Amino acid sequence: TDGRWGEAFAARFGGDEFVVVCGGLADVAPAEDLATQLVIDMAVPFMLKGQEFQSGVSIGISISTEPVPGVHDLMRNADTAMYEAKRAGRRTWVVFDQGMHDRLARSMQLETAMRHALSRDEFHLVYQPIVDLETGQLASVEALLRWRHAGLGWVEPAEFLPIAEESGHILAIGEWVINEVCRQWAAWQQQDAQHAPSSLSINLSRVQIALGPQLVTLVHDVLDRYGVPPEALQLEITERDLMKDPAAIRELLFALASLGVRLVMDDYGTGTSSLGRLRDYPFHAIKIDRSFVTGMTRDRQVIAVAHATVNVIENLGMVSIAEGVETRAEVATLQAMGCRFGQGQLFAPPVPADQLLATVSRCLVS
Ligand code: C2E
Ligand code: MG
Ligand code: MG
Repeated sequence: TDGRWGEAFAARFGGDEFVVVCGGLADVAPAEDLATQLVIDMAVPFMLKGQEFQSGVSIGISISTEPVPGVHDLMRNADTAMYEAKRAGRRTWVVFDQGMHDRLARSMQLETAMRHALSRDEFHLVYQPIVDLETGQLASVEALLRWRHAGLGWVEPAEFLPIAEESGHILAIGEWVINEVCRQWAAWQQQDAQHAPSSLSINLSRVQIALGPQLVTLVHDVLDRYGVPPEALQLEITERDLMKDPAAIRELLFALASLGVRLVMDDYGTGTSSLGRLRDYPFHAIKIDRSFVTGMTRDRQVIAVAHATVNVIENLGMVSIAEGVETRAEVATLQAMGCRFGQGQLFAPPVPADQLLATVSRCLVS
């Protein structure tokens, strides 16, 4: 090196991991410059035996102000920061901080705890009504996953789902969800066919979607096992997940639709798909994200976008569902723009299975 980075050397640490050591830096800035340069240089495509390749690096930086640093800690911290760099989307660098260590420790703890969660019956589902905005009648119900660990207490879906996806546990958990929902559908029909929801929605993870034909077989087998008519099952896929690999997912969606199950796009408006592309997919319904519904009674622009969205959805012969409805004013605005269904705290919170039928009869009265 030219001295800008102190006394520096690079070495292979093992596998595809390399370490760059810089001594005598005044602060972290030169290390960041070096990392930026490495990310750029390593991303340059190169030829190997007539074929073009492109590689990339994710870099974790840790610095020590001690004259004799604890090498072990320094390496561990750099490793933690590198893990964050990979999560941040690769081909980037991240400087270690203590919060990162705590987050990693927590997610490792959750990942370990999750391994036994299914066998210990720690997961359960809560159910939230989806109602017809015109009549207030129950239209459907969405199943939402909950996890209560004996020692850690309640863990939020927003916290445990990404860990379940990264570790692959979501496959077993998701299979349990499909089974449990179909079992519950049949149980409600037996108990009180008149008040029982005619259809149930479940959320699919992108990891389950990546199963492809195996997922189609699974859904088919579970419907069969509990005698659930396919149109009673709705599968929700978020717009973000859909946009990750639109072509591959499209094929899967058509295969699922041909089973007769209904497909629902979740969190519409948070991703990058355009209204025009909606008709490329066999969606039965589109759920308009809570962020639109929440801004709707104040912001004219949000109203305009939501209104146009509802129009397109309904004109394409699909069903519009508003998420996160919390106030009467929101209902009035949604009705005025022709949105047909709503879900949210105003109508009912998600409740355990044994409270659903009672909740439903309350929903209908109001
Ligand atoms: P989602 O599918 O969009 O579910 C709606 C979320 O909004 C739920 O959060 C629900 O509790 C919440 N919610 C309902 N009404 C209101 C309201 O009026 N106001 C507000 N502020 N929030 C409301 P939850 O249960 O925490 O689930 C979060 C996300 O986790 C879900 O978003 C879904 O993407 C995912 N998820 C939940 N269960 C499962 C599952 O079984 N499998 C998979 N793969 N993902 C799941
Ligand atoms: Mg959903
Ligand atoms: Mg949603």
